[in-house]
Amino acid sequence: MATIRPADLIRPEIRALQAYPVPDARGLIKLDAMENPYVWPDALRDEWLARLREAPLNRYPDPQASPLKARLRQAMAIPNDAALILGNGSDELIQLVILALAAPGRTVLAPEPSFVMYRMIADFAGMSFAGVPLRDDDFSLDLTALLATLEDRQPAVVFLAYPNNPTGNRFAPEEVERIIAAAPGLVVVDEAYFSFAEHSFLDSVPNHDNLLVMRTVSKMGLAGLRLGLLVGAPDWLAELEKLRLPYNINVLTQISAEFALEHTALLAEQARCIRRDRELLGKALNALPGVTAYPSEANFILFRTPPGSAKRVHGALREAGVLIKDLSRAHALLNDCLRVTVGTPEENQAFLNALAQALRERP
Ligand SMILES: *Cc1c(COP(=O)(O)O)cnc(C)c1O
Repeated sequence: MATIRPADLIRPEIRALQAYPVPDARGLIKLDAMENPYVWPDALRDEWLARLREAPLNRYPDPQASPLKARLRQAMAIPNDAALILGNGSDELIQLVILALAAPGRTVLAPEPSFVMYRMIADFAGMSFAGVPLRDDDFSLDLTALLATLEDRQPAVVFLAYPNNPTGNRFAPEEVERIIAAAPGLVVVDEAYFSFAEHSFLDSVPNHDNLLVMRTVSKMGLAGLRLGLLVGAPDWLAELEKLRLPYNINVLTQISAEFALEHTALLAEQARCIRRDRELLGKALNALPGVTAYPSEANFILFRTPPGSAKRVHGALREAGVLIKDLSRAHALLNDCLRVTVGTPEENQAFLNALAQALRERP
């Protein structure tokens, strides 16, 4: 009997992919994944657990998650005339948008470096991907190149992370407007870091028929829940809704997110601390010899280490018990770059001490 091998059946673009790598962080100060470092006070946890006791685990979840959606609309001031669809993390929503548009010869466009899932999902959905390099001095959009690529490739969808990951900057809103106006297809403005940024496109959704704004509760302090949302015109979202698996938001997530969003003051206070500590961390990084930290409107900072040292410094930090992200081989514009998530003040100090020590060591 002939053996059936994966190579005979699995599509070549999938065999060429690497699964999204998640390093083991056990025992380390975890500053690699843009998580919020703060936990809830005990009294609030007890209240949350009391709510979870009533969770009907034997039943399928509410397929529309209506109470949670109402709570999100209120907490995020989502425009009344915009529709809303929920995803198991915003990753799932990126997949949903791409699956709805995927056809041979169609293109997904995004600036690069940016969030890797845009390219990865385009690849496995069988779409082409056009990456337009950001400017090499400040990671701003190269608007001329981007508009030329729009014209040339006619992408079905453009993804703009606003602020951008992994660079931390927020693109100029006038330039984003230009892209929305010029795009022949959808534009998804991915606001994963809205809690830490000075501006949002949420209020602009009703002004455009091709603009979708995506958010997530992950970076707000609820990464474990897996909940993302997409806001846009009702006729677009009605089509996407057909692809959403009916029970994608589980009952524990629905109850927990609803509960958390009743306590937006606490989440806002945590975000305020993170923004304050981001400024302190940026200054401290720039004071280290040979280090350049880039301005950030997110809860992380991208910084450049002395030429050729990123891998060694990243390893030395890990040896010292601090896990951050090595991006030095992720894109040509990120040579020598590492990315650190803003943690608690104590975690940030431990990171800075370990980094200063690593920079003093000779390779
Ligand atoms: C973290 C991140 C996401 C993924 O969010 P999830 O809701 O956790 O899936 C999406 N976009 C950007 C730009 C991110 O940095």
